This record gives sequence, C-alpha cells and structure tokens, in this order.
Amino acid sequence: MMDRKTAIFRRCANIIWNNVCPICGELLEYDGLLCDKCIEELPYNNDKICPVCGKTICFDHSQIMFDAVYTLVKYEEPVVNSIYDLKEGRILNLAEYAAVEIAKKMKEDGTAEKVELVTAVPMHWLKKEDKNINQAEAVAKFMARELEKPLDLTLLKKHRGYQVQHKKKASDRREYANKKFYISPKHSDISGKTVLLCDDVYTTGATFNRCTELLKQMGAEKVIVMAIANTEK
Ligand SMILES: [Zn+2]
Ligand SMILES: [Zn+2]
Repeated sequence: MMDRKTAIFRRCANIIWNNVCPICGELLEYDGLLCDKCIEELPYNNDKICPVCGKTICFDHSQIMFDAVYTLVKYEEPVVNSIYDLKEGRILNLAEYAAVEIAKKMKEDGTAEKVELVTAVPMHWLKKEDKNINQAEAVAKFMARELEKPLDLTLLKKHRGYQVQHKKKASDRREYANKKFYISPKHSDISGKTVLLCDDVYTTGATFNRCTELLKQMGAEKVIVMAIANTEK
C-alpha cells in the first residue's frame, strides 16, 4: 500500500508530470497504476499454469532449484511493450501493479509471512547506468514495500556483457546464466532465510535457477521467485 509520503509526492509530481496508464496512455489519478479497462483486459495467467514450474507447458522439473514461482501476466502484447518501457526507465506502473497483485496472492496463500528478505536478479552497473533502471530491482522494491519485508540488493552480481536472451536456445541460456551471475563478496548473512527473488520476465528459468543456486550456496533455506510476466515455455 502507498504510504502517506509517497502519496503526497505523487500528488505533487502529478501536477508537473501526468500520471498515465503505461498500456494505453490514458490520464490517471495521481495514485492510479493502470486504467480500469487495461486492468480488465490484461493477459492474466490462467489457472492452467503448473504449480511446480509455473508454465503452461512444463519443462523438466528435475532442473528446478527454486521452491515456488509467482507471475501475474503472460508475456504478450500489450505487456511486452509495457515491459520495454520499464526497461527504458519510463513508466514503473506495471511493475508496481504486478507487485501489488502478487503480494495479495502471497498474503492469501500464506507465502507472504514466510518471506524474510527480498532481492532481485542483478544487472551489471554499467548497464544500469546506461538505462537508468534495473527493472528487476524496481519490482523487488515494490514487493518489499507490499510485503513489508527488508530489501537486500547486494547479494548477487552480474558480470559485464550484453547478450540478447530471448533468441537463445534453453541450453545456451543455462550456460550463459551459469557464467554470468556470481555471489557478491560483501554479501550479508542469509543463512536459514526464505528469500524472495524478483525479475521482470520469467522465460526458461535459467536465470532464476542459477540465482537460486547461488542464494542457496550462501545458506538460504528457501527461494521463492516472482516476475511480472511469464512466457509460455
Ligand atoms: Zn489503459
Ligand atoms: Zn511444470
């Protein structure tokens, strides 16, 4: 929920910059995230997703390192475009809306109370500077706020280098993820903790699996993963 300070800030900011729906561009109230029509029409994940891997078409469950997965919508239009805006550091409303809705689900099913720490899939600092935003961190900040849990963005790191992920085969993505991420030398103690790991899009699970593996090497007891959007497989 938005606190008073944020509400006041948004009310003032809204006088200078209009708050618009990130999907259709319609003007919103200062505290609105998406317009009613877009909320209704979003391509929500239906109930047919697998409770173990979170996909409509399962992948090999023996590869799964994480303990649970949450996503809100399918990675298709208009979500793809809206996530692109998020990557470019434009409108954060979709990330915030997804966090609010997923936190609601987690409170209903009892997961929220188990989470002790919120973190994000890392991005190299050079890329972060270039784009102004790490969209995974943006999601994690909203999740930490919604669940009222501490946020720690210093656990994992990513090596420099940019490769377009979505065109790669699953095996290539796994290899890429294994090399790309590493444990931050100055990380805090997460022994025995249940950690929530956040990202913007859940694709093959290579990134989530590798980051989960590292968090468990650091002593995390359980790792729950979440993303705004989910690809079909
Ligand atoms: Zn809209
Ligand atoms: Zn499955």
